Amino acid sequence: MLEAIQVTERAPKLGEFGYAGDDHVVPFEVDALDVRGRAVQLGPMLDAILSRHDYPEPVARLLAEACVLAVLLGTSLKFEGKFILQTRTDGPVDMLVADFATPHALRGYARFDADRLEALTAAGEGSQQTLLGNGVLALTIDQGEHMQRYQGIVQLDGVTLEEAARTYFRQSEQIPTELRLSVAKLVTPGAAEQWRAGGLLAQFLPEAAERMRLPDLPGGDGGPAAGAPVDNAWQEVQALLATVEPTELIDPTVGTERLLFRLFHEHGVRAFDGVRVADECSCSKDKIRGILEGFSAEEIRESTEGGKIHVACEFCSTAYEFDPAEFAAAK
Ligand SMILES: [Zn+2]
Repeated sequence: MLEAIQVTERAPKLGEFGYAGDDHVVPFEVDALDVRGRAVQLGPMLDAILSRHDYPEPVARLLAEACVLAVLLGTSLKFEGKFILQTRTDGPVDMLVADFATPHALRGYARFDADRLEALTAAGEGSQQTLLGNGVLALTIDQGEHMQRYQGIVQLDGVTLEEAARTYFRQSEQIPTELRLSVAKLVTPGAAEQWRAGGLLAQFLPEAAERMRLPDLPGGDGGPAAGAPVDNAWQEVQALLATVEPTELIDPTVGTERLLFRLFHEHGVRAFDGVRVADECSCSKDKIRGILEGFSAEEIRESTEGGKIHVACEFCSTAYEFDPAEFAAAK
């Protein structure tokens, strides 16, 4: 009688659909192809982040893509920490930040020049490459003060975020990685428009020793030998992922597990419990007070308006108010 509500507590078997739902990252494995990955559909939490900022549509799309990428990469962290994705470019959208804090908190914001953006839009130029321009994509893993911060930087010159992320995996991790991202605004008659994004990440991780290079070969860089043929299993994965339609990645009636089943059922795919991700910011009055305490007396004066210092969090727009006397006394 309670079958229907207990369904999520049973080990999920692909073929029984509707497990994770929106805003849950689903890790998966296809042993026959030596592939592991993660897939996600972001719904209400992404819509909350984007709606709060009320960005123009092209900016919202870019940030949505940055968010889904940060979720796919951040949920791979094995320890407590942060994964920060940041772009710095010379286009109208000169900065995107999406940061993921374990176990589930995502926040993000975009910085853009409204005049330049309007000029581009009026000229009918709206590609990701023209919006971003040239610059870099930085991916940072921060596992707290006792661990070394790791940062990988890739060029973002005339390529999309998806392409830049692939380059990152090739250069920094040397793991064959395929990635598909999609963003859309869901328009339902009679209901408010809602942002959605989806993504699928697949990595080739063969366990068989003969398919791995020895790490201590002289001059070895751990990467595949130049000109080496692409492994058949990995070729198959690439071919399968090439069949993924952008709409399948975001369609709530398809869902994450159903897409994985569609792609990999012939090889046998295992999906694990979905990991929830949420729209959460780590800002606090104490943290912002800490920043203001580092200000000079002059900076405190310049920040004061109408007898108060007002600070709004760039990520979540929460407004904080301080009495400048709190800081002036210490100067
Ligand atoms: Zn905040």
